[in-house]
Amino acid sequence: MQKITRRAPAPAVAKSAKIPASSVAAKPRQQRQKSGKAANRPKRLRRWSADEVREAFTRFAKANPEPKGELEHLNPFTLLVAVVLSAQATDAGVNKATRPLFAVADTPQKMLALGEERVRDYIKTIGLFRTKAKNVIALSQKLITDFGGEVPSTRAELETLPGAGRKTANVVLNMAFGQPTMAVDTHVFRVGNRTGLAPGDTPLAVELALERMIPPEFMQHAHHWLILHGRYTCLARKPRCEVCPINDLCRWSEKTVA
Ligand code: SF4
Repeated sequence: MQKITRRAPAPAVAKSAKIPASSVAAKPRQQRQKSGKAANRPKRLRRWSADEVREAFTRFAKANPEPKGELEHLNPFTLLVAVVLSAQATDAGVNKATRPLFAVADTPQKMLALGEERVRDYIKTIGLFRTKAKNVIALSQKLITDFGGEVPSTRAELETLPGAGRKTANVVLNMAFGQPTMAVDTHVFRVGNRTGLAPGDTPLAVELALERMIPPEFMQHAHHWLILHGRYTCLARKPRCEVCPINDLCRWSEKTVA
């Protein structure tokens, strides 16, 4: 097996750092005009070897054996609602709104009884709250009508719910049903491209590349490891390369370690 030498000690994933406001990397002004996708692409596209991929995820697993998502929820239904509300919003902002909402409505029936106007009041601090309130009511209705009030456990069924796309389906399948899916959000998209682990122009391309690259035994938690890595270490504007546990493996030509 290939010998891999680390350049810095691997810290535990820091949970106290701030969530970045943007996924655009820190760059000179003229370079920033390039798309975020292109700006985050490694210039040298030497592929990761299977041993390097295994090594990276072994380190993530050692630092954080049971990574958890940060969206608060009580059951599959509240998880689904929280993920729908989290589009273009921070998990912290969503949690602040959903704590009181889920205290009164933790089932599709209760959400429907609450009604769109009151749901809107609970979530008015979240971006796009009007559309999201409509979707929460509509998906609650559809769950009752089409799925016996239960959250379905297939991607195809989940994607029929108002406000739920592929990423939402993948999060629910992973967290509620223990399926080894890869939900690609802004953090996973950036990390996949920037490190060279799974370059792709679209979230779907990155998702499929990650599924190809990551050994099956790491897939269950890989989504959370990559989100936490992007959120707290590989920050969009100022990546913390000096404390990054995979800095020797990363292919990004602008990383701040040798
Ligand atoms: S070295 Fe680590 S923190 Fe820096 S760009 Fe690469 S993955 Fe991100």
